[in-house]
Amino acid sequence: METILVLTHADETGSALTKASLEAITAGQQLTGRLNAQLTIGIVCGDPTHLSKSLPSAGPRLLAASGEAFAQPRYATDAAACEALCRAAAATIILAPSSSRFARVAAGVAHRLGGVIDTHITAINAADTIQASRWFYRQRIEAVLTRATRPWFLLLDAGTHAPFEGASNPTPIEEVKVELPATRTTVTGIRAPKQDEQTIRPDANLLFVTGAGWTKKQPDGQTHVAEASDLILGFLRQTSASLGSSKSLVDQGGEGNSVLPFLTHLNQIGQTGATPRHSKGLSTCCHGEEPHVVGWRFIADRRAISLDANCGWTRGKADVVYIADAFQVVAKLNNLLAAKKA
Ligand SMILES: Cc1cc2nc3c(=O)[nH]c(=O)nc-3n(C[C@H](O)[C@H](O)[C@H](O)COP(=O)(O)OP(=O)(O)OC[C@H]3O[C@@H](n4cnc5c(N)ncnc54)[C@H](O)[C@@H]3O)c2cc1C
Repeated sequence: METILVLTHADETGSALTKASLEAITAGQQLTGRLNAQLTIGIVCGDPTHLSKSLPSAGPRLLAASGEAFAQPRYATDAAACEALCRAAAATIILAPSSSRFARVAAGVAHRLGGVIDTHITAINAADTIQASRWFYRQRIEAVLTRATRPWFLLLDAGTHAPFEGASNPTPIEEVKVELPATRTTVTGIRAPKQDEQTIRPDANLLFVTGAGWTKKQPDGQTHVAEASDLILGFLRQTSASLGSSKSLVDQGGEGNSVLPFLTHLNQIGQTGATPRHSKGLSTCCHGEEPHVVGWRFIADRRAISLDANCGWTRGKADVVYIADAFQVVAKLNNLLAAKKA
C-alpha cells in the first residue's frame, strides 16, 4: 500500500501556498483517489496559521515544518524540512512542485532517504503500477516511467494540473520537529527585476509572441521599431502576459545590435527555444513556420495576427488567424485595455 505525501511551500508573502504547490495538491488528490490511499500534505513555511484555509478540509493529514528558519528558501533548512516531513509521513511516493526552491533540494532529500527521483513529470496514472509521464527530446517523445524503488520522488512541471481551490473548514496542522542543521547562508532579502523587466512569466494565462515582422519595413516603406517597442511593452504592462519570440527576431539582438532590447534568446519559442505552457497564445508579426510552432505544443488556444494570408498559422497551425496589421491591432487592443482599467 502506497503512502502519498505532497510537499508544498509558502510563497514570498508567507501567507499563501504557491500556485505550483496547489497544483501538486490536485495531483496528489487524484493519485490517492485512484489508489484508494491516504494523502498527507507537508508544508514548509514560516508560519502555517493561515495556510490551512487553502488546503483540503477533510481527508488529508496536514504536517508542517515551520518557523523562522523555514520562512526563506535555503538549501540546508529546506532539505532538512523536506526530509523530516517525508520521515514523519513514512511516505513511499512524494509529489512536489518543480519550483526553484524544491527542484534544488529534492534530489538531495531522495538520496538521504535512499530513494529515487524523476523530474519534469507532466501526468501520473495508476493502474497495477504508478505510471509517471514526462517528455524527452524537446517535447517530441513522451515516456511513461514506472519504478519499484521507494521512496519515489516526482517533481511536477508547473501548469500540468489545475490548482487546488481552498476549502472553508481548516484542518488542524501537526507540527513536525526538524533538527536544525548548521547554516552558512543568511537570506538578507530578494532582489528581483521589476515586473516590467521580467518578461518571461510561466504563470501567465497568455503567451504573447513577437515575430520579425515588427522590425521589417511596413507598407509605408519605413521600419517602426520604436513604435513596435512601445506597443509590445504597453501590451505586456496591461495584460501581464509572458513574452515569447521567434528566432528571427531574437537573432537580431546578436553582434551588439539590440533591436528590441527586452528580448533575449530566453524568450525564443520553438525547436531550439522553449516550449512553455499557457492556456492562450497570441502570435504577432510571425510567419508560423514549423520550427517555431513546435514550441506551441502546450498552448491550448492559439491565435495569430499576420499580414500574410498564406502564412503557416493559416495552414492549420492556429485556431484563429486575424489577417491584419499587428501595429494597428495591438494599438487598438492597448487602448481598449487602458479604457477598461480606467
Ligand atoms: C534547425 C532550425 C531550428 C529553428 N528553431 C527555431 C525556433 O526554435 N524558434 C523559431 O522561432 N524559429 C526557429 N527556426 C527558424 C524558423 O524556421 C523561422 O525562420 C523563424 O521562426 C521565422 O521567424 P518570423 O516568423 O518571426 O520571421 P519571418 O519569417 O520574417 O516572418 C515575419 C512575418 O511578419 C509578418 N508581418 C510583417 N509586418 C506585419 C504587420 N504589420 N502585421 C502583421 N504581420 C506582419 C510578415 O507577413 C511575415 O509573415 C529554426 C530554423 C531551423 C533551420
